[in-house]
Amino acid sequence: MLMYGFDVGGTKIEIKIFDSEMNVLDSWRVPTPTNDYSVFISTVQQMVAKADKKFSDRSSVGIGLPGVIDKEGRVTTVNIPCLCGKQLLKDLVQTLNRNVGLVNDVRAFALSEAMARENYHSETVLGVVLGTGVAAGLCINGQIHLGKAAVAGEIGHSCIHATLQQKYQFPIQQCNCGLLGCYEKYLSGSGLLFISQHLGFDYVNTRDIVNDLNCDNPNAKEVISCYLDCLGQFLAQQVLAFDPDVIVLGGGLSNIDFLYKEIPHYIEQYLFGDLKSPQILPPQHGDSSGVRGAALAGRVENN
Ligand SMILES: [Zn+2]
Repeated sequence: MLMYGFDVGGTKIEIKIFDSEMNVLDSWRVPTPTNDYSVFISTVQQMVAKADKKFSDRSSVGIGLPGVIDKEGRVTTVNIPCLCGKQLLKDLVQTLNRNVGLVNDVRAFALSEAMARENYHSETVLGVVLGTGVAAGLCINGQIHLGKAAVAGEIGHSCIHATLQQKYQFPIQQCNCGLLGCYEKYLSGSGLLFISQHLGFDYVNTRDIVNDLNCDNPNAKEVISCYLDCLGQFLAQQVLAFDPDVIVLGGGLSNIDFLYKEIPHYIEQYLFGDLKSPQILPPQHGDSSGVRGAALAGRVENN
């Protein structure tokens, strides 16, 4: 049986058709209807119908999207306003006439990486995405841990540690979530630029910082050293909370090669005794991990 994975973003919906070995057989994308719920539902329905027809199949459907999806399948997302408050899971199950896996895209990323060959035998895998936002997914024995309100993994909205705030004299920033001092404001792509600005440098995009870092530029080194210090403290807290076998990083900032060599040292300085950092790995499936994880979540719903 094939699997259909959907990656729903604020601008496009992508479908990927996987075989049972997770090979991609086909994929296409369409613009996301963001303001009309019924058009959104019919768009997904048409994509599924096209795939069913093309592959003469009636495959499992898994959908990953940004935002919080509660256990009843109700969605809260800023990127696709028409989905907010809607019983998306119930409506999709009814419309598509099959079980559907509906999962937050970062949790989907974590599932994909937990099921990847290299991590398959790890009991606990924490996937941490450092991109536009900062969030995570915890997989235990190949299953996503959602928690009571399905917010397990929203660690980007925990508060920056007092030691970091004092050490760097960071202002406590207001986060879009309504809280103050969220790690996301310091560890996301814009967080890295904030750190650069705070240290007195005028970088306007993260690519320039990385390029300068590769040329041993002292300004870029200072920015990245501060960023890694914050990331090390942040990940050390996750180690103390979850003690994962492996942490897989994703998102735009996970492409900084330098990070993997340095980060264990930064983590360990915030762990007590002789505690060691778990393995910190780059993603095995890169940007495809979200849609791959969504497909896997769909398969679970149809087993
Ligand atoms: Zn926040």
